[in-house]
Amino acid sequence: MDSQKLALFGGQKTIQTEFKRYNPIGIEEVQAATEVIKSGVLSQFLGAWHQDFFGGPKVNEFERKCESYFGVKHAITVNSWTSGLIAAVGAIGIEPGDEVIVTPWTMCATATAILHWNAIPVFADIEPETFNIDPVSVEANITPYTKAIIAVDIFGHSADIDALMDIAERHNLKLITDTAQAPGTYYKGKLTGTLAHVGGYSLNYHKHIHTGEGGIIVTDDDDIADRLRLIRNHAEAVVGNKGVTDLRNMVGHNFRLGEIECAIGIEQLNKLKGFVAGRQHAAERLTQNLQGLPGLRTPIVKTNCTHAYYMYPMVLDIDRLGVSRKRIIQALEAEGVSGLAGGYANIHLLPMYQQKIAYGLNGFPWSSDICHRDVSYDKGICPVAEKLHEFTYLGFSMCMHELSDQDVDLIGQAFNKVWSKLNELRV
Ligand SMILES: *Cc1c(COP(=O)(O)O)cnc(C)c1O
Repeated sequence: MDSQKLALFGGQKTIQTEFKRYNPIGIEEVQAATEVIKSGVLSQFLGAWHQDFFGGPKVNEFERKCESYFGVKHAITVNSWTSGLIAAVGAIGIEPGDEVIVTPWTMCATATAILHWNAIPVFADIEPETFNIDPVSVEANITPYTKAIIAVDIFGHSADIDALMDIAERHNLKLITDTAQAPGTYYKGKLTGTLAHVGGYSLNYHKHIHTGEGGIIVTDDDDIADRLRLIRNHAEAVVGNKGVTDLRNMVGHNFRLGEIECAIGIEQLNKLKGFVAGRQHAAERLTQNLQGLPGLRTPIVKTNCTHAYYMYPMVLDIDRLGVSRKRIIQALEAEGVSGLAGGYANIHLLPMYQQKIAYGLNGFPWSSDICHRDVSYDKGICPVAEKLHEFTYLGFSMCMHELSDQDVDLIGQAFNKVWSKLNELRV
């Protein structure tokens, strides 16, 4: 049999076995969790102004460890980073109807956190190199109603924080960063996620380190930190006795993370650097394997930045290749490469935004008096992000697997094989 015949057309698959599922949990986490279970104290939060308002021993130990690791004044644990984003938007004092500029090329929760407070997401386009929100587009979308920006360090590469902070300062806006995918990476020698007014990380199972579910919010601002802790833990029941007078957004939740998760988190934090280094090694090896394939752009890492490769982002030159992304993915999948995808469906194109139906059926908040103007979610508002999603972006999900050098080389072989037979896919 012709070993070079594409598996798509009945040839031999390049990759015969499934890659190992990523599993960062080891014996240290088992012991730490077991100790908590034996203690019987699985949580120690009280939604009242009391010492247990701040949670139990593992919550506090993990938070203090995060503060020293990330070099921030406050680290606040939450039961998911989605909860963290919601708390962050509330804590910076957003008013109903305020506009918050956000990227459409991210996980939906980044934008939903804005709507949660009845504020209005405004989508700015992204940079074609890093897929992060484009400061030029941010500036073009600022109106008198804009109050904040949410940038995402997508796929593991920092957004252009200096440019975004400069815009935030000039227009008196708050900057929140969503660093779910890039913990442990650097921007100009500083840890990504720690350079805005509020930042934070996800601890869900497919992120670099995890506690099952969970999140960490970081900030250097004492007032924002206070308000984050209140929103996390039943603010409305606490403000009276705590003596909080600014009641704005003191609408509480139960966003508390448990003792078991925090005990696991302490161990995971110790391993973060090693896990990120492992991903970087695999990604750099893959890039070498893919060197020289025409019409395929491997990941770009800007000077002064490091990349965590939550995703391994590639871009196809479809005109040059003369083959659609769908067809290329089919051929690669047939060779046994799993975890390929066309990137994020642009958030503004989701039904909720297209139909402006979120709370109830009457178009609230867009249709109400709190909304200052008719904000567009039309196709075409973010041409870079839209084109990438529709035609040219090709992501390989590094986060799902633990890849040995041999696995990486096999992926490289599969790409090289498909690229050597592109003419057969051009029908
Ligand atoms: C994972 C992720 C989130 C949500 O985090 P959870 O902990 O799953 O709630 C938000 N934003 C981005 C960019 C993410 O990757």
